[in-house]
Amino acid sequence: MDRCDLLIVGGGLSGLSAAWTLGNRLRTLLLEAAPIVGGLSATQHVEGYLFDWTGHWLHLRDQELQAHLEGLLPLARVTRKAAVFFAGSYLPYPFQSHTAYLPQKERDYCLDTFKTRPRDLPNSNYEEVLLSKFGEGIYELFLKPYNTKLWGLSPKEMSGEYAVKYIPDPDEAALLHGGTHRIPSRIGYNQTFLYPSKGGMGALAQALAAELPPGVLRVQTPLTALHWSQHIAHTPTGPIQYGNLLFTAPLPSLGTLLEPLPPEIATALSQLRGRRLHFLDLGLRGTPDQDFHWCYVPEPHYPFYRVGIFSTVLPSMAPPNCSSLYVELTTSTPKSAREELALCLPGLRKMGLIPSLESVQVCRLRTIEGAYAIPDHAYLPARNFLFPFLRAHDIHCVGRFGRWSYSSMGEDMRAAMERVRAMQYHGL
Ligand SMILES: Cc1cc2nc3c(=O)[nH]c(=O)nc-3n(C[C@H](O)[C@H](O)[C@H](O)COP(=O)(O)OP(=O)(O)OC[C@H]3O[C@@H](n4cnc5c(N)ncnc54)[C@H](O)[C@@H]3O)c2cc1C
Repeated sequence: MDRCDLLIVGGGLSGLSAAWTLGNRLRTLLLEAAPIVGGLSATQHVEGYLFDWTGHWLHLRDQELQAHLEGLLPLARVTRKAAVFFAGSYLPYPFQSHTAYLPQKERDYCLDTFKTRPRDLPNSNYEEVLLSKFGEGIYELFLKPYNTKLWGLSPKEMSGEYAVKYIPDPDEAALLHGGTHRIPSRIGYNQTFLYPSKGGMGALAQALAAELPPGVLRVQTPLTALHWSQHIAHTPTGPIQYGNLLFTAPLPSLGTLLEPLPPEIATALSQLRGRRLHFLDLGLRGTPDQDFHWCYVPEPHYPFYRVGIFSTVLPSMAPPNCSSLYVELTTSTPKSAREELALCLPGLRKMGLIPSLESVQVCRLRTIEGAYAIPDHAYLPARNFLFPFLRAHDIHCVGRFGRWSYSSMGEDMRAAMERVRAMQYHGL
């Protein structure tokens, strides 16, 4: 039987960063189910167009990690161009900081109700938190419809505790100023981001994988069962005896992997819900009239909630004089790629993104299962129950999907690196 000190499940950026940090210092094995590394940060190449799993931009606030990554591959620094499409025209993102761009009636509604927002709500759900921070106008015109499209459920059904933790308080002076002055889109913490100079976001995972010691990475090798009390992992190529296990695959998938599966663990795992996201990859001849990197589309009558243009970030994401886009769909039961495109076309035309159907060279429909962990009322208690059990059996969950949370690539890489450093420090 194969043996290792640390078994890493998943060769996305979390698993790769962990293995890369350890280098030769421990007997490490990394199992990746897919034929290529990268997970959701991989890039697909189709007829000369490059597509990530929708927009994957590196908003790093971590100087040390940035220096490490810049040592691995060239990264371009890009100044963010993010927009909101509302009432037939564009305003800069974020919506709440640019209400001066709205028609007067909507602008007054946002500003007046922001000033009189109810600050004493009990915050028992997401809606109450958003209303108490932003007021009725910003909530009704942007936050409610956008969040309902994104999460696939009403903010009332989502945890207030979660929202209090993750939604920052608005900068009151900036918000009021943005209601009377048409300021450009230079607000917020993510004003610039990093992106590999060539090859799409997937180039980062490839660069990390290339640095791993020989024999660590096993692609096309899924974990199929986990005998957790004996520390034995099963794969199609045989069992592996491990000391500790770093789990970066989606947390709910443990429901089909743990053997045996204790009933109370099965219950907690079954309470974790995920938002399935369907999206279109579009390769177009010509360039759109707009030059944003991504744009939020809150209004319910559009069958998509966000659109991004890879090739405005880097022209090399598409063949010369062509463009590559992604369209994140609202539907939970998609038809074919072409049928979904037909439904989106009036909106995409209105936004100045697609001149005609003839310009569409590539149109693919893809799906991310559990793209967003849904923070409903069962979410925090279920996680708080699961993690201590798993830790007690040397199973360490990291990454956005392993922890079933809402984190970014930078945060996930940092957390994975910290976790294995701590393990090393404590001698595993
Ligand atoms: C729609 C969307 C947009 C996003 N945009 C951004 C963004 O702009 N910027 C940003 O910083 N972050 C973004 N993220 C977050 C980003 O995707 C995550 O931070 C990152 O993918 C986490 O990497 P990971 O390695 O933890 O997980 P993953 O990338 O999911 O990797 C997990 C790996 O585990 C493998 N696996 C699964 N099951 C098994 C098994 N049984 N055995 C072996 N291997 C298995 C999978 O094949 C996969 O390769 C976005 C996420 C989504 C869903």
